[in-house]
Amino acid sequence: MHKGVGVSPGVVVGVAYRVESVLGSRELSMLEDQAQVPAEIARFDRAVEETAVELETFVQRVALELGDSAADIFKSHLQLVGDPGLAGKVHAAIEKRRLTAFSALQAVMNSYAAQFARIDHDYFRERIIDVRDVMTRISSHLSRKAGDPDDSDPAVDSPRGEEPVVLVAHEILPSQAMSLGDLPIAGIVTEVGGGTGHAAILARSRGIPAVSGVDNIMDDVVNGDHMIVDGREGHVIVRPDREATAAYRKVQREYFHYKDSLIANRDQPAVSCDGTRVELLANINNLADAQAAEQVGAAGVGLFRTEYLFLTHHDVPGEEEQYEYYRQIVQNSPGKTAVIRTLDLGGDKTVPYLGRRNEPNPFMGWRSIRIFFENPKLLTTQIRAILRAGRHGKISMLFPMITTVEELRRLNAMVKEVKATLKREGIPFAEDVKTGVMIEVPAAAVCIDAILRETDFISIGSNDLIQYLVAADRDNPKVAHLCEPLSPSIFRVIHMVLEACQRTGTPVTVCGEMAGQARSALVLFGMGLRRFSMSPAFIPQVKALLASVTTAQAERFAHHVLQLSTSEEIRAYLTERLREVSRMLEAIDYV
Ligand code: PEP
Ligand code: MG
Repeated sequence: MHKGVGVSPGVVVGVAYRVESVLGSRELSMLEDQAQVPAEIARFDRAVEETAVELETFVQRVALELGDSAADIFKSHLQLVGDPGLAGKVHAAIEKRRLTAFSALQAVMNSYAAQFARIDHDYFRERIIDVRDVMTRISSHLSRKAGDPDDSDPAVDSPRGEEPVVLVAHEILPSQAMSLGDLPIAGIVTEVGGGTGHAAILARSRGIPAVSGVDNIMDDVVNGDHMIVDGREGHVIVRPDREATAAYRKVQREYFHYKDSLIANRDQPAVSCDGTRVELLANINNLADAQAAEQVGAAGVGLFRTEYLFLTHHDVPGEEEQYEYYRQIVQNSPGKTAVIRTLDLGGDKTVPYLGRRNEPNPFMGWRSIRIFFENPKLLTTQIRAILRAGRHGKISMLFPMITTVEELRRLNAMVKEVKATLKREGIPFAEDVKTGVMIEVPAAAVCIDAILRETDFISIGSNDLIQYLVAADRDNPKVAHLCEPLSPSIFRVIHMVLEACQRTGTPVTVCGEMAGQARSALVLFGMGLRRFSMSPAFIPQVKALLASVTTAQAERFAHHVLQLSTSEEIRAYLTERLREVSRMLEAIDYV
């Protein structure tokens, strides 16, 4: 058994499917005949040419949209593609070792990786990322050609077969997380990444169990191995014996059965036992999530993270494309209601076309709206697209990572200016799109009264708020224990923000993971929160939870929690209360 961190609850018994990368340990494949060598070399050269043309287009488009410095990254990639040394090495590997073009590329990549690993300087060592990016591009052009069946997309192959598929990967990159979105995956296991990694977000949004931080799992698993993933306990069992399989299959059946029975509440109103109404909204990352939100009976979309549209793009998506996508999102959202968050890149989510900064503390650095202030065109394009899409439903616009009132003023002024421009240009848009602020930086929480004077609504992003409040990266196992949502500090801060919103009558939502976790949801409801936004998969259970408490009961819980001094006391107290309210919900709650 391997031990990791459970990042999405549930249990699955399935078969392994490895997500390989160009750097992966996939076996090299050979051409059948020496006579195939010239054609294989020509095939590689064609893929290189196509990659160069693609990169030239990116350079031009990014330079136009974001300026020359942002295009530098692609210029350096172009140089790498055109490097005769690279072509020479790949040609030699095809010729002398009779490798397929894909395998030759992989072999060269592996030797580069070994050389880079020996470099004693972070910046240069990390340039391997650029090399890997270029190689991945070339190999994807290779795989678009008919030919060697082995030369499939190096990043994501399609799993086949009837049994549930457990994806096993070193890490899941943002673009992979999106392309995996359509596959029939029933579980995810990764070596790196934590509760806020892409694998975790993908898993939770689809309600599938996932475990991250499992050291060396790639060394122990081959495609087709039977596996058990226990997302609550963080356990992974590879090639389980018959008893373990039978035991876990039973848990899996019970879990599904219970979840299915919860889904049955989709058409019931979200109310507490004594009739207090709440709004249960969905956090979504793409169109499929919007549809999932509808299926589980969400009242609307409380958070649409637009970065996934950008992460899966080779370059900046233009205004028309964004407009079209937001229009589809709102039209497919429950009640045609969606809160669209402006781009929240940086931290762990980077795109090559914005340039890669070598920041010692990326989460404390150039992220989110901070990027926009340097690239205002990027933001005005997005605001235009959101305002235009506002005609097709009820859209609000949400700004992430606000730290100061000055930033907010600047953003509000930009929205005003964009509206004036659209008017001047005679382009139709929704005048009444509300704008809101995410409270996820402690500085903004502390100055909530000042922020409230200049915004229409608030959304509390507890995921980031927690890690900034306790100054601990939740993906760093050494300090992750400090990122505890059931803590006195986080509940006090949220209470302060909720009170300020209640005083001023400002609509407020909690859209971090806490909103979907039973113990914290009880407290938030008791503090007066009436709008919860969460991964669609959690909506049925939060609805069931709230239906089993009275408002007065939850208020008592919240009042008591605010008197406690330690996380340990809070956890013990809430576990007891949850057990009284619903034993089954306690069993499937994961934090
Ligand atoms: C948050 O920080 O709580 C949040 C909802 O935003 P994200 O998880 O996308 O950072
Ligand atoms: Mg956040």
